[in-house]
Amino acid sequence: MSTAGHSAYRGRFAPSPTGPLHLGSLLAALASWLEARHAGGRWLLRIEDIDPPREQAGAADAILHCLQRHGLHWDDSVLWQSQRSAAYDSALAALQAGGHLFACACSRRELGPMGDCRRGCRERGCHQRGAPERPASPYALRVSVPATFSAHWQDTWQGEQDWPLGATLRDFVVRRKDGLYAYQLAVVVDDAAQGITDVVRGADLLDSTPRQRLLQQLLGYASPRYAHIPVLTDRSGQKLSKQNLAPPLEATAPAHNLRAALTALGQTAPPAEVSSVEALLAFALAHWEPAAVPAQPVVSATAAH
Ligand SMILES: [Zn+2]
Repeated sequence: MSTAGHSAYRGRFAPSPTGPLHLGSLLAALASWLEARHAGGRWLLRIEDIDPPREQAGAADAILHCLQRHGLHWDDSVLWQSQRSAAYDSALAALQAGGHLFACACSRRELGPMGDCRRGCRERGCHQRGAPERPASPYALRVSVPATFSAHWQDTWQGEQDWPLGATLRDFVVRRKDGLYAYQLAVVVDDAAQGITDVVRGADLLDSTPRQRLLQQLLGYASPRYAHIPVLTDRSGQKLSKQNLAPPLEATAPAHNLRAALTALGQTAPPAEVSSVEALLAFALAHWEPAAVPAQPVVSATAAH
């Protein structure tokens, strides 16, 4: 009989279709899958396709195919953020009704160093309950950060986190000037909608978490637990990402890629006779040791090919 805590675990992987998966993203997907399966929980998939200008045609399908080739099968149906406008609008309406939003038409160069509004848009009557006052020019919707707000959580890999967000950031965008929903808003709404209890993702997103925890609090959602996996770098210390053109994963070499990812995660290397994707994942699951994940995973130059 499993314990209620274990069976209730719901994790997720949430890539944006801005390019193919690379070894760094496989690392996050694999760690997230291992954590969920190890807890006897569910592992959900969400495609974060809310920023069409940054997306690459065919990337979403390529990601789904690549995950399947690597044996990382998800539960339930895929959640596509491009189909979630109604949910994001409801959340914006709830924030508005709570008096947490204001409209800001400032140009990029008028913003402060943290991208926050410095020209008093908040004070210009946009902040009260009801519809925001609409500036004549295109405007973003920003959420006010209460000066006293602090985010605290115990992070599986990053340790105790204490972010006095209100002391450093006055506001941030939840709906962009071009009308697109901000990443922070969409993630929070969808983590709640998918009942996510545990977020496992790259530490490059660590500084998004305080903003997401604020939105969870303002929207009355429970905050999931967080586990930010250290970001994979190459031997020169450069982070692997789509932006620096990390080589895409070869879907034809899934067993090789999984071995490389397990090595980077500091896990016991499967014996040579363990060769199929299914057997590799079963071995990895049986030997999964979160504490063995190194503070700075490094990939050798050839691992991604
Ligand atoms: Zn402004």
